[in-house]
Formats: sequence, structure tokens, C-alpha cells
Amino acid sequence: MTLENKKLYINGEWVETADAYEDINPATEEVICSVAKAGTAEVDAAVGAARAAFESGKWSTMAPKKRGQILWKIGELIRTRIEEFAALETADNGKPIFESLYVDMPAVADCFQYYAGWATKIHGETIPIGPNSLNYTLREPVGVVAAIVPWNFPLLLTSWKVAPALSAGNTVVLKPATNTPLTALLLAEVAQEAGLPPGALNVITGPGSVIGQALVEHSQVDKISFTGETATGQQILRSSADTLKRVTLELGGKSPNIILADADVDAAIKGAAMGIFYGKGEVCAAGSRLLVEDKIHDEVVEKLAARTKKLVPADPMHPKTKLGALVSEGQMNKVLGYIEAGTSGGAELVAGGNRADIGTGKGYFVEPTIFDNVTNDMKIAQEEIFGPVLSTITFSDPEQAVAIANDTPYGLAAAVWSRDIKRAHIVARRLKAGTVWINTYNNYDAASPFGGYKMSGFGRELGAHALESYTEVKNVWVDLNE
Ligand code: NAD
Repeated sequence: MTLENKKLYINGEWVETADAYEDINPATEEVICSVAKAGTAEVDAAVGAARAAFESGKWSTMAPKKRGQILWKIGELIRTRIEEFAALETADNGKPIFESLYVDMPAVADCFQYYAGWATKIHGETIPIGPNSLNYTLREPVGVVAAIVPWNFPLLLTSWKVAPALSAGNTVVLKPATNTPLTALLLAEVAQEAGLPPGALNVITGPGSVIGQALVEHSQVDKISFTGETATGQQILRSSADTLKRVTLELGGKSPNIILADADVDAAIKGAAMGIFYGKGEVCAAGSRLLVEDKIHDEVVEKLAARTKKLVPADPMHPKTKLGALVSEGQMNKVLGYIEAGTSGGAELVAGGNRADIGTGKGYFVEPTIFDNVTNDMKIAQEEIFGPVLSTITFSDPEQAVAIANDTPYGLAAAVWSRDIKRAHIVARRLKAGTVWINTYNNYDAASPFGGYKMSGFGRELGAHALESYTEVKNVWVDLNE
């Protein structure tokens, strides 16, 4: 796939820049296109456009019903052009086309249409203070939102931010990850076609250290909605302190997937494989620590390793491919480094462990990898690998499983597999994680809130909860004394 060079989208216009960078397909190592490299001047222009659009009221005070119709239309247009969106996502990110086409892109359209419905339902309340006062609240948009997005689910995580932000009447400057800008730019085209006013959504591409940082420091940005690494989130929190921005952070994870001895073992094994290998393991909520009760350890590891050996990385554009390419050479090398750390740290490699060649001699593919006999203090059990690498840890009772599960700085997601539903709920309550799955893994829905405990961040995306972080509450007192 070779495309024409990509420009920035500011105030409803496509804008060229002096500098550009190459966008690489990680499965072929070929250049897809050249992409505009914004600098601080373009950040100023994009923020200025978003600010002017916000203050003009053309979006923020548009009748909510009309706002909802435009968001719904964006969802519709995404569905109409779903194959184009999916092909771009796969070319940019390396994920299998079946994921882009049947999971990510439908979920993006769902997200816009879910928040289309909310536009008419964001409202304040009246508060019974006493007979001589009328006291009520208004829910107002925060203003200009900077949405900073990572590369693992480029358009899906974009929709989690842009859809609620727009639904509440904010205007947005969107910064996709440097590696994966293409679907964000197509979204801008579709939003324009749907009738979104100029300046309500602006898309700027370029390095996070320059333009992401400039957005975070900008006096005219009111809120940062960030998804990415914990270290970047910490940096953003520090840099946004001077302007006291509203900040929500969706950060990394090291999620425990717990299989109790009374589980449906075959279902749990399937869930464990999907929990770590879906999305090549480049999933913030990936079930990267598999906690297995000792009584079923041998069966689980044996069957899981056999299943994993059949999962062969292949051309992401092939409709049957289930495991694609990692997003970049740098990410592949990072993952291979962790595999090396696992082996040298004393863990037992039971599947995978190497870079894979799909027969082309090109592309950043890694075999799905499983380590057994991992202890929770090992590097591979504590640090986010963000690749198809699973660490298996054994426990002897649910109490110990909870202790191991919570023994991490992260708290994004967790799962428990058990036929004893009462016990599963008790374990779920004790896990320090923003999402707990019982007898399933990796389920998401636009209506279901998602976010982290501890160093996995704060704030919730999706559902009604997300709207809280895109609105301010204004309280109004009226004197009714006669
Ligand atoms: P990253 O932190 O390197 O980059 C994320 C975004 O921030 C990119 O757009 C990048 O250009 C930008 N950025 C980089 N430096 C910046 C700075 N100083 N100021 C402002 N913006 C800056 O993360 P990544 O490597 O793209 O993504 C992988 C990470 O994202 C993993 O840690 C993963 O767990 C996390 N993630 C979390 C969730 C979640 O919902 N919790 C979801 C997906 C990914």
C-alpha cells in the first residue's frame, strides 16, 4: 500500500508542513507514505482553531440533538468506509485485518453512536436547598481538549476520547501516535463530511516529545486526555501542573489472569491465549501474568503451550491471520530483550522465544511466547512487555492468588476463572484493578467504563463515567425571598 503524502487537519483545512517523516508498514518494512511533521507553530494554529471554534459556540452551543446527529453520522460513515479504515489500521499497526475489520472499526463506529445518544442526555440537577432558593447545576463542556493517543489501538482509543469530548460540546486537538497516524486523518475527512464545523476537530501529526509536550504546556488547552506509557503519563502530569489542566491518564498494565482449580480448564486456556496474544499482546489490559492453581498447573501449561505453537505469525492482510507484526522495529527489539531477560532470569521457556520470519525476510514478527516457573519478582512479571509474551506463575490457594495478583504497581485489569461463582465474585472484589473479567477476557463495550487503579492511571473512559471528565459542573443560586 502506497498513499499520497499526509497533511495536518486544522480548522477544516489540510495544511502542509516544511518537515515530514516516513510512515512504515511494520509487516513489510515499506514506506506507506510521508506524513506532515508538525512543530510548535502548528500546535498553536490547531489550538487556536479549537479555541476559536469553542468560543464561537458553533459546536459547544449547537442544539444537542444536532450534535448527536452529526456524531451518529460519523459512525455511519465509518461503517460505510470500514474496509478502507481497517486496511489503513492494519498497514500502520501490523494487526491482523480480521481484528481491524471485525473488532476495532465496528467498535469505533459504536463508540461514536453511543456518545451520539448522550449528547441530549448530559444535564444538571436541581438541589432542594430550602423554600427561598432555587439551586441548580449546569454541566458545561470543559473547553479545548487535547487527545493524545498511543499506537496499539490507534482509532479505537481515539474514539474513546474524541466521541465523549465532542458529545459534551468540547472542541478537540487530536495527536495520534507518530507510528500510526493514518486512521486519525481519515476520521477528520469523515467528520468533515458528517458536518462537524471547522475547528471542532483538528488533527496534528509529529513527535510526542515536541507537539505532545507543547499541547500539555499550552495555556489554551483546558484538558488532556492521554493514553500511553506510565512514564509519559507521569511527565504529562508534571508538565500540566503550571496550567492546572484537567488530566485523565490511561496508562500501562501487568494484568493477572487467575485460573482456579475448579475452572472450566479448556475455556480458561482459550481465554488465557486470547488474553495475551490478541492484538499481539500490545494491549494495555493484556493478561500478561497467568496465575494457575498448582493442582491444574501441568494440564494448563501443557495444553496452552500446544495451542500456542499452532499460532503462527503471518501476513496481517491475510484474512485468516491471527497474529500480526509488532508495531515497529524498536518495539520488537524491546520485546526480544524481555524474552532474553526471562531466560537469563531463570524462567522456563515452553513456547516461542524468537523473532519470526513469515517467509518474506521482512517485518517485525515475534513468536507467541510462554514462560513457566516465573516468580512474581522477576523482571518479566513486573514490567509491561507489551508484546506476545506470557509469564506463568503458580499459586496454592485463592488467598495467595489475590496477593500475587495485587503485587504490582499497576491496576488496569484482571480476570478470574472459576465454576464457583460466589468465590469468583469474592476474588473480583479483592483485586485492585479497574476492570475484572469473570470467566472471560478482553471484553469491551462503549457503555462499560474502563480505566486504571494505582499506576495504571486515573479517570474512566467509556460509559457515562467518561462524560464527567469532559464537563465542568456549574452551580447556580437564585434568591427566591419575597
Ligand atoms: P507513549 O507514552 O510512548 O505515547 C503515547 C502518546 O503520547 C503518543 O501519541 C506519543 O507521541 C505521545 N507522547 C510522547 N511523549 C510525550 C510527551 N512528553 N508529552 C505528550 N505526549 C507525548 O505510549 P505508546 O508506546 O504509544 O503506547 C503504549 C503504552 O500505552 C503502553 O504502556 C500501554 O499500556 C499504554 N496503553 C494504555 C491503555 C489504557 O487504556 N490504559 C490503552 C492502550 C495503551
